[in-house]
Amino acid sequence: MRSPRFPVRGAVTAAALVLFGLAGPGTPAHAAEEVNVYSYREPGLIDPIFKRFTDETGIKVNVVYSKDGLIERMSAEGRNSPADLLITPESGLLIQAEAAGVTQAIQSKVLEDAIDEKLRDPNGHWFGLTRRARVVYASKERVAQDAITYEELADPKWKGKICIRSGQHTYNIALIASMIAHDGEEKAEKWLIGLRDNLARKPAGGDREGVRDVKAGLCDLAIGNTYYMAAMLKNPEQKPWADAVKILFPNAADRGTHVNISGAAVAAHAPHRDNAVKLLEFMVSPEAQALYAEGNGEYPVTTTAKTSDLVASWGALKPDAIPLSQIATLRKKASELVDKVRFDAGPSS
Ligand code: FE
Repeated sequence: MRSPRFPVRGAVTAAALVLFGLAGPGTPAHAAEEVNVYSYREPGLIDPIFKRFTDETGIKVNVVYSKDGLIERMSAEGRNSPADLLITPESGLLIQAEAAGVTQAIQSKVLEDAIDEKLRDPNGHWFGLTRRARVVYASKERVAQDAITYEELADPKWKGKICIRSGQHTYNIALIASMIAHDGEEKAEKWLIGLRDNLARKPAGGDREGVRDVKAGLCDLAIGNTYYMAAMLKNPEQKPWADAVKILFPNAADRGTHVNISGAAVAAHAPHRDNAVKLLEFMVSPEAQALYAEGNGEYPVTTTAKTSDLVASWGALKPDAIPLSQIATLRKKASELVDKVRFDAGPSS
């Protein structure tokens, strides 16, 4: 039923262009230029960037926002999908999109020069656009030390003192995958059991609820992404949670802190492929990078863009050198490990 739509739509577009031609002077030459974005990220964050893109290029950005189901929608739409660019708040969805066959490889010197190769797909199917670190939020009152390692989280000295969200959450899966990459599966499993037995409660809630529970005295350490500090500081109810903790960057003195990305991928059947690449390239310009990163309290993915004063105030970030493409290949193993040690059942399960 869908396949005959293309020639018909093509004919309509041709007719529309003829009409545009007849419209005479005053009609901008680029009036027909557009790009269609499917975004898992919220409008408030990306609309200001799209507006600047349109101001600079004349290319109209049409956006479909949804918290879920966009990859499934692209799969279902198949060749007739209007999607040009998929924007996601984290890397798991980019991996999922590539696996579902709804992305295409892009070669762009602008993107390759701007984005560290560890933070994009080696084949060009997805690109990181902002960075965040997975850090330890430590009680200012009860934790004296100012440095920590992920390995140390399994040390019995922290028994009953750590809060974390579900082990199966994509943020923790990526972190556990990075532990497997560094230490091997056997050591990573022992570590995960040690961490599980140090938990103050069953894994639950989000990263911010961990910090809330530190403030409440239920735990001393909570694992969370850096941008949640910015989010909590902006929220009157959550600001006291943020004020109760300091950020420790794990493994800052050795291999570096686990970093993940938000990102984007060009759609497999993008009808406006060139405009999608133009938008993606615009999003790594210093101006767009600063705007995008600051909007969510993240780090720019490029080194030329300015990190906001707030984010910079948390201290120096030394990122783990393991490529995200390698972490992607270990996600399944990490997920199996979480089930195997019954991580989500909580301590001593
Ligand atoms: Fe998040």
